[in-house]
Amino acid sequence: MKTQNAQRPSQNLTVASPLLRVRGLTKRFHPSLPPVVQEVSFEVGPSEVFALLGPSGCGKTTTLRLIAGFEQADSGQIWLEDQEITRRPPEERGIGFVFQDYALFPHLSVYENVAFGLRHLRGQARQERVLEVLGLVGLTVFKDRKPGELSGGQQQRVALARAIAPGPKLVLLDEPFSSLDAALRQTTRDEVRSLLKQSGIGAILVTHDQEEALSFADRLAVMRAGQLEQVGTPEEVYHQPRTPFVAQFLGRTNLIPGEARGLEADTPLGRVVLAEEAQGAVLLSLRPEGLALAAPLGHLGLTGKQLEGTVLSREFKGHDMTYRIQLGNRELTVQESPESPFRPGDKVRVLVRAKAVVVGRGR
Ligand code: ATP
Repeated sequence: MKTQNAQRPSQNLTVASPLLRVRGLTKRFHPSLPPVVQEVSFEVGPSEVFALLGPSGCGKTTTLRLIAGFEQADSGQIWLEDQEITRRPPEERGIGFVFQDYALFPHLSVYENVAFGLRHLRGQARQERVLEVLGLVGLTVFKDRKPGELSGGQQQRVALARAIAPGPKLVLLDEPFSSLDAALRQTTRDEVRSLLKQSGIGAILVTHDQEEALSFADRLAVMRAGQLEQVGTPEEVYHQPRTPFVAQFLGRTNLIPGEARGLEADTPLGRVVLAEEAQGAVLLSLRPEGLALAAPLGHLGLTGKQLEGTVLSREFKGHDMTYRIQLGNRELTVQESPESPFRPGDKVRVLVRAKAVVVGRGR
């Protein structure tokens, strides 16, 4: 089964009057190995929050480092507004960077860490800017502390303050929330997002956390083995994945083969409605929340016999109930309401209540 990349290119790649334009970016570290970043192209709009999402080792950090200028591209171009910056040194790009480990100077105070990036300013102008940015991130009271005397979330905000102090139009965030615990991660993420929006700064977040990318970004690119597999808004990428990889990487899904005829397809789950027209053999994605369970028609034995499955397991999650269902030789994941009554071993019918998304065509 072929994926659809060749027929339907990743959508939503460009924006009107982009802040950043990346074209055909390619980087190879070893001549005998494939490039770790291959023909990567996308755009980021002014004050847009963009995310690069993908599994470990797919080339996200390298893409970010190429944009920052810490690595040199083998080919491709990078523009910031109307300036080509592909070969410029990092300090002349006007781009801020927040590293995964924050990379703060441990022997300098919070104030001095932020002032470090403002060496071009003198005296009062420098002091005013440091205090302004510390106020923005809510750290004025900690200005004399050393990074080691702050919590992880506070250190994260110092790193962000240092990155935005020189007034960049774009900041690059490399897994900036990964060392925070779950509760702090959520609040810090919200704070950083509103801070970026408030300051009108564009951002690229690198993350392997799907939920983080979906909730933080205005648009995101799903990256796999050095290439962008799909670019779009969180809703587009979640609800209209273009490939099996994107469908599976962005949360759980059921991949079902089918034979399409226009807006319908025959599948092992019966006839389903398609989100878009297709013909012939297709691979379909149906999210667990797009399926439902019902009691078998039993002695009536009228229809739906082929759709009868067996409950393998159920997982109560408070806000929903997740079932594993054996249907023929296939295991399905179905998300139901928390009151759903079925138990392991029960016979059930599997109903399709959402449109199926075509993620592959052909045999
Ligand atoms: P992670 O989420 O684990 O940080 P990533 O998607 O950011 O992964 P990269 O750090 O960009 O991935 O690495 C992509 C590939 O390039 C990996 O196989 C990595 O080992 C390789 N790589 C990265 N930097 C170098 C380097 N300086 N020299 C050689 N290989 C490198």
